[in-house]
Amino acid sequence: MRLTGAGLGLELAGSMADAAPSRTVPVITLDGLSGSGKSTLARRLAAALGWSYLDSGAWYRALTWAVLDQQADPKDEAACLDTLSHLTLDAKAGGEVLANGKSLGLALRTPAIDAAVSQVANHLAVRHELNQRMRALLDQEQVFGLVADGRDAGSVIFPDAALQVFVEVPLAVRAARRFEQYQQSGTEVTLHDIEQALAERDTCDLARGDAAPRLTARGRELKNQQHVEEAVGVLLSWVKELGYTPQPTQETS
Ligand code: C5P
Repeated sequence: MRLTGAGLGLELAGSMADAAPSRTVPVITLDGLSGSGKSTLARRLAAALGWSYLDSGAWYRALTWAVLDQQADPKDEAACLDTLSHLTLDAKAGGEVLANGKSLGLALRTPAIDAAVSQVANHLAVRHELNQRMRALLDQEQVFGLVADGRDAGSVIFPDAALQVFVEVPLAVRAARRFEQYQQSGTEVTLHDIEQALAERDTCDLARGDAAPRLTARGRELKNQQHVEEAVGVLLSWVKELGYTPQPTQETS
């Protein structure tokens, strides 16, 4: 992950000039159910702030892609863990996940992955390992701030995040948006099938105890039915309340 631009939340430990700097990297999390638009908002917010973006769902999708590629069973925790142990995952500044150094792009957005990813994400040991790897992004020196989205980005992955947002959108609106995306990519599906698949994923995601998508105690709820610009504007106003100033920068990778 590589970003240019001013560092925020950077602190120097001690007074020795050559001492290793101890960094406090600010984090903002956006959680919500499938199709709530949280990824678009998180990506836009990260760009506006000049921070890095982590799409945690893409990491689960990349692992699911590898599991299916090896013809392993997504319901088999040991098989998923074994696949994960041979998989390096990294994030480009724009959030795109690299699996063993390779960008998987639209291969992560197929109905087959949609159907299997919740099964892979149900394994606690898999979640634990992925969470550790995602937290380690904060140790990368080129990460000055991070906007992370997912289901449990605020509640579990980054519980100390400066701002935790829960993005709320009704099922019918989410289904219509997903239908439009599939139409644009030429995937043949019906609105009814999408609504049903989303409802099934909601049920699966919401049954996940601590990691279920939810508004955290100190989180803020964003009802994302307005235009994306307006929603980003609301998020930026919340960020400014915390004292961070937008410093958009050029992504270099
Ligand atoms: O956000 P996206 O729909 O790409 O996520 C794919 C799947 O990954 C979700 O349906 C969910 O099962 C899983 N996931 C998760 N925890 C996260 C992010 C995604 O369990 N933090």
